[in-house]
Amino acid sequence: MGFRATVLTLYPEMFPGPLGVSLAGRALERGDFALETVQIREFGVGRHRMVDDTPSGGGAGMVMRADVLAAAIDHAAPEGDDRPRLLMSPRGRPLDQRRVRDLAAGDGAVIVCGRFEGVDERVIAGRGLEEVSIGDYILSGGEIAALVLLDAVVRLLPGVMGNALSGEAESFEAGLLEHPHYTRPAEWEGHPIPAVLTSGDHGAVERWRRAEAERITAERRPDLLRR
Ligand code: SAH
Repeated sequence: MGFRATVLTLYPEMFPGPLGVSLAGRALERGDFALETVQIREFGVGRHRMVDDTPSGGGAGMVMRADVLAAAIDHAAPEGDDRPRLLMSPRGRPLDQRRVRDLAAGDGAVIVCGRFEGVDERVIAGRGLEEVSIGDYILSGGEIAALVLLDAVVRLLPGVMGNALSGEAESFEAGLLEHPHYTRPAEWEGHPIPAVLTSGDHGAVERWRRAEAERITAERRPDLLRR
């Protein structure tokens, strides 16, 4: 059994979206991973299938109901489904390549996409949701965040990337940002490719790339070096 993602959303038409093209799209067609959506509204209450209500204590906006979300989650991930349950949320632990790698090594994920002001707090503990953020800014819904997470995971799945090695030496994998890349033409607008890269000396190339990665990381993301 490969990686299976089940996304709970009010906007299932947003999926597979960008995951339907290029490498991810081909992997989806081949069945290297599965992507299902669950329309949360199908679990809404009353004739109007209400999924949200006004915030207790007052204030602007609407809050997604715990009972509605729980019913959708119980349908999507019944007893015995041990996939991690994620809630896309700006309060969550920031997503990083390590978590992406862990997810890619597992059976899949159940991903809840919030809308409005967010979800009733009780469903988070009640259904064991792990809050995951994709950065310190606010999106209008969890769908694009879920697509970001899934894109990062899917490209690590076996068979998805043509050249397996290109998954290895990238930014963050060694705790460093990546070294610069160059390709033809040999000279462009007066700028040549660094001579070491065309020298044919593989050892020298490796040492140069490592030094450049360290220099760029120290300059731009010293926090990564301290970790
Ligand atoms: N009122 C909330 C923001 C709600 S945004 C607050 O101030 O924290 C609506 C939904 O978009 C959220 O429930 C979440 O699912 C999603 N979302 C917004 N920003 C996000 C982020 N940075 N990472 C992951 N999900 C996010």
